[in-house]
Amino acid sequence: MVHSLIFAGMEALLQQIEIYKKEIAEFVLEDKNAAEAFRIKYLGSKGLVKNVMTEIKNIPNEKKKEFGQILNEFKIFAESRFEELKNVTSNQLPETGIQIDLTLPGDQLPLGSRHPLSIVKNKIISIFQRLGFAVAEGPEIEDDWHNFSALNLPEDHPARDMQDTFYISQNPDWMLRTHTSNVQVREMEKGILPIRIICPGRVYRNETVSARAHCFFHQVEGLYISDNVSFADLKQTLYFFVQEMFGQDVKIRFRPSYFPFTEPSAEMDISCLICNGKGCNICKHTGWVEILGCGMVHPNLLENCKIDSGKYSGFAFGMGIERITMLKYQVKDLRLFSENDLRFLKQFTSAV
Ligand SMILES: [Zn+2]
Repeated sequence: MVHSLIFAGMEALLQQIEIYKKEIAEFVLEDKNAAEAFRIKYLGSKGLVKNVMTEIKNIPNEKKKEFGQILNEFKIFAESRFEELKNVTSNQLPETGIQIDLTLPGDQLPLGSRHPLSIVKNKIISIFQRLGFAVAEGPEIEDDWHNFSALNLPEDHPARDMQDTFYISQNPDWMLRTHTSNVQVREMEKGILPIRIICPGRVYRNETVSARAHCFFHQVEGLYISDNVSFADLKQTLYFFVQEMFGQDVKIRFRPSYFPFTEPSAEMDISCLICNGKGCNICKHTGWVEILGCGMVHPNLLENCKIDSGKYSGFAFGMGIERITMLKYQVKDLRLFSENDLRFLKQFTSAV
């Protein structure tokens, strides 16, 4: 009777050990702390393994050896499983315990947009490139000769007043260029003819910053020098340009003007894109908007650059990129272009 009771107790204990072994084998690590929780539950000083071990005192002597072996195997099984779990924790589980799904698509990177001045500059360049104009660039810090004197603007010439700029105090002969015409001079000085270039770039003037003026802005100038270049060539080139830029319906007109570097000189207007010539605030109710200055290259310039003005002639033109951009996108304040306000810049997109 006593014997069978003990036997029943042993059976129950063996069953319990089997249940624990199943639990241990199927234990799932949910986060970094799970291995430690496992250790406390099974291998701690009040853990289940220790608990089962204490049962050995109730086992009859003749069964102690056999039972002791079972308990020992159980303990080793629990310990080796703990080692396994510990390795998994330190090698694979992230700190938070959140599993990463590597098959999910990644976060989209914000692509940004081109600056409106760059969009318009690139468009101007591509139109003139189709007519055979090459892009030429030059320095933004320039000497007096290339910025003024060579362009028929000698010292004390009153037109210099309109182009006050920033001078380098260590050497007053150096300044920030007031136009990209310095590039034209440098190209003409090379003496390789014919010349057919456009010069995009940043220029500087000592101006009070306002909605219509800034101390720096951007220009594209063009120069074509060859034999037999006439005002008709100039007119047709610029007409093609504005049609490509603003649409086939745009009209042009030339008004006589004065520039020291061209003779004759003209301002070119286009018909107002907003009111189609009827009159509005943008065109000051004239129906026309001024977009660029142009003219036939002054013979003095050719001679200054050692080009025979008896043999060669040419035309030149210059426009402000800001002005074209303001007309194209109806931007009313020049300062927006340099304020880096994303609310403004995000409105422009370009594929290139
Ligand atoms: Zn108008």
